[in-house]
Amino acid sequence: MQQDIQVTIVGSSNVDITALMRRLPGPGETVLADSYQLSPGGKGANQALAAQLAGAATEFIGAVGNDSHADIALGQLKDAQVVLDRVARSAKPTGVAIIQVDSAAENSIAVVSGANATVDSDAVAEAGQLHGIVVLQGEIPASGITAAMDAATGRVVLNLAPVIELDRAHLLAANPLVVNEHEAALILQQLDASDAPTNDAEPVIAQRLLEHGLASVVITLGANGCLVAERGAPIQQLPAIKVKAVDTTGAGDAFTGALAARLAHGDSLAQAAGFAGRFAALTVQGHGAQSSYPRHLADI
Ligand code: AMP
Repeated sequence: MQQDIQVTIVGSSNVDITALMRRLPGPGETVLADSYQLSPGGKGANQALAAQLAGAATEFIGAVGNDSHADIALGQLKDAQVVLDRVARSAKPTGVAIIQVDSAAENSIAVVSGANATVDSDAVAEAGQLHGIVVLQGEIPASGITAAMDAATGRVVLNLAPVIELDRAHLLAANPLVVNEHEAALILQQLDASDAPTNDAEPVIAQRLLEHGLASVVITLGANGCLVAERGAPIQQLPAIKVKAVDTTGAGDAFTGALAARLAHGDSLAQAAGFAGRFAALTVQGHGAQSSYPRHLADI
């Protein structure tokens, strides 16, 4: 069964504990919240669900704890029939994001990595061969990311969010690197400390990243769509579909997962990014991350 896998996501899975309140507490202060909810999250898990719903047979490789949160973290992936055979059970707790949201939608977030911190080079080596397009993010240790890149037999989609330190050779092996505009500027500085053009326009940053040796880069731009930059081709700006956005949580993950799914089906990078943008635009019209991902592809 694993041989038929088209997209393998190695990454994080969390439970998001979200409390809604009129205003956020200051240091040392307690406020009464109106309600709370538990929902599955983590960039890796979000991207795995998106890839599967976008039509690719997907495997998620990560780690959860021996606790009740594990079932919540993996519940939607299981329902969508994402392959979970190589998700490890760790002595550490399932990762949680403790999120406070006020009535103006301002938030503060504390993430406890828990079991996600165990997805390191040893864990990836133990998992063995990785099939199809391999997708990675910055919520597991750098050693896990580089080991997964080394084990990949297919193309590697690297969504380096959050931006963590990676050695140059691995950073440049991404094809594509998928990041937002802030992450793109940080990575450019990581590649060359003297290159600090944080105020440059995104096409300039994308071009510079290619000049450093990346084969391709996709910069996501929220409601402005995305930029697709490939070595030897003109940079393309793909506008987003105009929609009424109610909650953009997990939109970037939906984009990355859907992009990988379409690459697995043989789309060009620009075609895949176009599809991913349409997929992600549907997700911003609903609340939450995984719960907002489209279950039917007919409209995309
Ligand atoms: P972001 O991570 O915010 O850059 O968003 C990732 C992708 O989701 C973007 O490249 C768009 O394709 C899509 N997206 C995000 N926000 C919106 C929005 N307000 N309207 C339409 N599409 C959006």
